[in-house]
Order: sequence, then structure tokens, then C-alpha cells
Amino acid sequence: MQHFPIFVNLAGQRVVVAGGGEAALAKLRLLFKTEAALVVYAANPADEILVWAEAQRLTLVRRPLAQGDVAGARLFYAADEDAAEDARTSAIARAEGALANIVDNLHDSEFITPAIVDRDPVTVAIGTEGAAPVLARAIKADLEARLPVRLGPLARIGKAFRKMADALPMGRARRDFWADYYFNAGPRAFDEKGAAGADDALKDLLSDHLSRQSRKGHVAFVGAGPGDPELLTLKARRALDEADVVIHDRLISPEILELARREATLLDVGKEGFGPSTKQDDINTLIVEHTRRGAQVVRLKSGDSTVFGRLDEEIDAVEEAGLSWHIVPGITSASAAVAAIGQSLTKRGRNSSVRFLTGHDTKGFADHDWRTLAREGEVAAIYMGKKSARFIQGRLLMHGADPATPVTIVENASRADQRILETRLADLPADLAAAAVDGPALTFYGLAPREAALAQQALADKDLTLTQELA
Ligand code: SAH
Repeated sequence: MQHFPIFVNLAGQRVVVAGGGEAALAKLRLLFKTEAALVVYAANPADEILVWAEAQRLTLVRRPLAQGDVAGARLFYAADEDAAEDARTSAIARAEGALANIVDNLHDSEFITPAIVDRDPVTVAIGTEGAAPVLARAIKADLEARLPVRLGPLARIGKAFRKMADALPMGRARRDFWADYYFNAGPRAFDEKGAAGADDALKDLLSDHLSRQSRKGHVAFVGAGPGDPELLTLKARRALDEADVVIHDRLISPEILELARREATLLDVGKEGFGPSTKQDDINTLIVEHTRRGAQVVRLKSGDSTVFGRLDEEIDAVEEAGLSWHIVPGITSASAAVAAIGQSLTKRGRNSSVRFLTGHDTKGFADHDWRTLAREGEVAAIYMGKKSARFIQGRLLMHGADPATPVTIVENASRADQRILETRLADLPADLAAAAVDGPALTFYGLAPREAALAQQALADKDLTLTQELA
């Protein structure tokens, strides 16, 4: 690195520009961003310079630069666009103790002006040592697009607030507070209510973080139910209300996430069978890290977190870190789905037990006690059973299950887009494929929706009477 980037304080400092043409205009426009006292030496200044002089934005001296003109100045720009004249003026400047820049002459300049992304007080300076101005411009354009304009005002408000934030202990607590402001609460408040909103948000955030200091971190493993926000428990709602951080799965509906405290940080660690996902270890680490920092963490899982939720691995991690936790039960999708078909999970005289099965586990399709399941009257609620439908069907038939056993699939149980698909074991994979079920779906084996169930029952009863009559 030949040129070392620094930010020079130009407030009230003299900066001298020799020249009155295009090169001088370009530098002056940049220099207007500062609070420097600008002096321009030009025999024939451009009209803009005359206007600026009139408006007292700079001091104009209508002659070429002479000995003594740069005394006491901090920076000097040779912008006469004439090699001989620039050499003459920059020699004077150097002799009089100013750092000199010659426009478009990197070699003879003592400093260069970088490309700037201006989000005052945040300033990004980009330099390529003159190697690739095109590259500098491209990087500038990229950053201009990436850094929201509100960053400037947010930083200004934050700067004025720094003393107040000293009430927080130095280190992590303070860093967390500022991160929360710049990346979470601040932008949101600014977008909704402008600068005043950001100011208020800062005050609220500080009192929130101050009270956090006296609290210990804690994890609530909360079941969010099958999707309908009205199927959340009161305890789940309260936990969401108090959360600093909500770490949630992909299946959690947006309406439920809406209920989280406004200041809460929402982290999507979406896990879907076979789909892209955050590794379980990373999720564990995330939970532990946030809780260690004193956050009230809600680990939000769909349905009931104790059902096919890999809950125990997360509890183990939290325990190992010596942190406290509790479980808030939720309505599991089997409960929501069975309600949707107007049935009971168990029924006297029909099934005195029900199994909760998973179609696949971490190793692939899950194996079960197929022989017992294949017996008449068995009922199972199958989670994650879409991709494994053919496998399950095959195993059950192989173990002697009746191909006519009713199978009901409830997709998006309790949600606005809920669908019920009625079929039989024999037709399960084909019907499932034909229905193009792409939402989360629960498969009931041995259970039909109530109306059909009744009709079937009536038929069976008639058969029975007939047989009895014949006998
Ligand atoms: N803990 C969750 C289950 C997680 S496993 C619970 O108690 O419900 C994910 C599986 O749950 C999905 O593959 C699907 O079989 C089922 N599921 C989750 N939400 C569902 C919904 N709204 N409707 C139907 N099935 C759902």
C-alpha cells in the first residue's frame, strides 16, 4: 500500500485550489462536503465559481496563485489543467507546508482523493492507487446501492446518543445494544416514522437493554401449533411477547411471527425434510449463544415441540451450557388434522391406541412395527409421510394390511389453504401424486373423514345383519 488512507479533519482549515475550470469544479464539489475554508485562485473562473463566491461558499481570488498564498493551508489542489502551471503552483504549496495534489497526476501528487460513498457521518473511501478508476467506480456504485440512505441519519442519531448508552457496561452488552439499533430496531423505526421514530426507538431500546442486564438468559421451547394463530396457547403468546430472540422453523406461519415483540430478532433456521436447512449443531450453537448473552430466547417449533422436533438435542446443548429452559406445549398437527376431518384420534370400540409415526428419520425412510400396524383397527398419524408414502404402503401390504384400509391426508391443517384427501391404502401413492400435495401434510392410516367413516360403518353393519340373517 503506497497511499495510506486517513480521514483529515478539515473543519475550519484552509484548503487552497488553483484553477477555475472543470478540474477545479469537480474538486470543489467534493470539498463542499467538508467544513473547510475554501480559497480559489483563478484568473478566469467558471460561472459556478462566481456564484459560489457570491454565496460566500468559498473565497475567490481572481489571479494566478502566487508566493505566500498557501501559507497555513492544510491541503492544496493544483487544478489548472496545465502541466507547467500545476508544477509551478504545487511547488509553492509544498514550500509553504501544504500537502499537494495535482489533478490527474498521481506521480507528482503527495495525496490522492479517493472515490467516496457519502452516508455522513459514515464515509467509505475507495482507492486503487490510480490502478483502476473503473474498478473504483464499480465498487462505489455497488456500495451506493447496498448502503441505504437512512444509514447516515441513523448514525447521526446514534452518535448523539453515545453518552447515554454508556449506562450499559462496556463490551458485549454495549455492542449488542448498538447492533440491535443499527441492524434491527433503528432501520425499522426509521422506515415507519422517520428520524423522530429512530430517536424514540433508541430510548426504548436502551431501557430494554438496561433491564436485560438484570435478567438471566433463558430458553423457552415453544410449540407454535399447526399454523392458525388462534391455536397458539396463551403461554406461547406470552413467551413471544417477551422474547428478545425468536429462532423458528420454516413451517411457522408469518401470522404467528407477527406476534413476536417488535424489537425481537427473528432468526429463520428453516428445516424441511430433504430440503436446504441449517445444521442441527448450528441451531444448537445459535440458541446457546443468544441465551448466554442474557436474551430471552424462544425456540419456536411447529405443532408441539416434543413431537418429531429434535427437541432433546437442543435441550442437551442448553443443559450443557448450564442455561435454564422450559417447554411450552403446542397443538400437534395430528390433533389439528383429526379435528379437520371431524374424527377422534381414539374411539371406544374402534381403536384404543393411536401411533404417531414419522415417514422418515435422519437415516432415510423410517422402519416401524409393520406387523402390528397391519392388523385391523389400527390407527396411525403419520408425520412427514409424503415422500415415504409408497414405502409405507409397500411395508403395510407386505405384512397383510387390507388394501381397502382408509387413509386420509390433511394438508396445511388449520390453515386457510387446508385440503383433505380421502383415499385407501391401495391407492395412496397414486392419489397423493395426483393431488400434488406440496404443503405440510399429515397422513392418517386407518381413519376416514367422519361422513365417509359413517357410511362405511353403515355398510359394514348391513353386511353384518345380512350375514346374521343368512346364518
Ligand atoms: N412438531 C410438529 C411436527 C414436526 S415434523 C408437530 O407437532 O406437528 C413436520 C411434519 O409435521 C410435516 O412434515 C407434516 O407431516 C406435519 N405438519 C406440520 N404442520 C402441519 C400442518 N399444518 N398440517 C399438516 N401437517 C403438518
